[in-house]
Amino acid sequence: EPALLKELQETQGASTLARRAVDLIRELLPVPRSLTGDGNRRTLDILGRAVPLQRFEVPSGTPVFDWEVPLEWNVREAYIVGPRGDRVVDFSQHSLHLLNYSTPVRAKMSLTDLRPHLYSLPDRPDWIPYRTSYWSEQWGFCLTHRQLAALPEGEYEVVIDSSLAPGSLTYAEARIPGELADEFAIFTHICHPGLANDNATGMATAALLAAELMRSRPRLSYRVIFAPVTIGSITWLTPNEAAARKLRGGLVIGLLGDPGALTYKRSRRGNTEVDLIASAVVRGLDSAARVVDFSPYGYDERQLCSPGFNLPIGRLTRSSNGEYPEYHTSADNLDLVDVGALTQSIRAISDILSRVDSNHRLRRRSPNGEPRLGKRGLFRNTGGESPKSFEYAMLWILNQADGTHGLNDTVAASGLPDTVVRRAAEALIDAQLIDDIDLSAPTPAES
Ligand code: ZN
Repeated sequence: EPALLKELQETQGASTLARRAVDLIRELLPVPRSLTGDGNRRTLDILGRAVPLQRFEVPSGTPVFDWEVPLEWNVREAYIVGPRGDRVVDFSQHSLHLLNYSTPVRAKMSLTDLRPHLYSLPDRPDWIPYRTSYWSEQWGFCLTHRQLAALPEGEYEVVIDSSLAPGSLTYAEARIPGELADEFAIFTHICHPGLANDNATGMATAALLAAELMRSRPRLSYRVIFAPVTIGSITWLTPNEAAARKLRGGLVIGLLGDPGALTYKRSRRGNTEVDLIASAVVRGLDSAARVVDFSPYGYDERQLCSPGFNLPIGRLTRSSNGEYPEYHTSADNLDLVDVGALTQSIRAISDILSRVDSNHRLRRRSPNGEPRLGKRGLFRNTGGESPKSFEYAMLWILNQADGTHGLNDTVAASGLPDTVVRRAAEALIDAQLIDDIDLSAPTPAES
């Protein structure tokens, strides 16, 4: 079988895609984004030029598990006029200047009264912080500490021409049908404004990879989901509960361009197909790579790996939440995004998808105990390989062949050479001890 996304597993092809991602990030950066609103629709318009997207609008107030879809937030303008008559902070200059989800305000006040509504970073005086107030009605502005320190006493005019009104939450999917109905999902969040690594790298990379998957002929079916973090994945899971439970695997991707090492965070289950493959891929590409256990903090894996779903979905990032000084500030801009790092991230994702895509699932016919290999002539039938590794490979496959694991993740788990594991699998199939269940799996048309 030809490897999926073969060119993107090589540096040259991946760096071409990384450069295209940077162009897309440049276009995405100024668009104001949030949990809801026209900025998110404009974002999906931009991504939709890279790959055809199906868009969904879920009305405000729709119950989604323990939550409900919030009011839609839009901003026409927001600024503060100082005592000298000049705009001292202006949302049109940087989308981080406004506390995300600020309620509308039109008022005059002293600096003393204004101060509690101003957010800055005293130890990073040139950076604007990113702050949100999604679930409590507040208003505020974010500014550099230098801007804040320069504000004179006097009367200020505050204008936030925003609306919080019944509307909808917008998310989108790219669907790529494969030969099999089994789906692999990629999730990326689309709610952060004005931040390049978190999460424009995720949005741009996911869109461009979806387009490449569409041009390829994948064996599995793919679904790439663009939604705001937390409430977005909860909103997606609600109508997609049945499809989610059937997912063969998935990856949450984001923060793909900072100089940190490749980091794979395991699913809650910890040893699924994608966990074993992704761990081996990141370690193979980056000697500093980290493979970390699941924790209930982070991005959409919090919802996807909640106990009711417990999906075989891990997360690929470089740095993660709060691990770099520029995180959630205006310094998370294109200067932070390293094309080499983004190239390596694209290689990693492509390699993971390729190995999952060609990973035929194996199942023991009689799974209780180990079968007697000697009476089938398998224990010394080593065909040139050292007996030890061939026997180990058989034991690995016989143990992993539970219908959820295949050859590629068994290679990853065992650390044995691919060729030996492949030969062992063939011998066990010939001996009618295991079956390749993907050969009889339903196609999209049947499912
Ligand atoms: Zn973030």
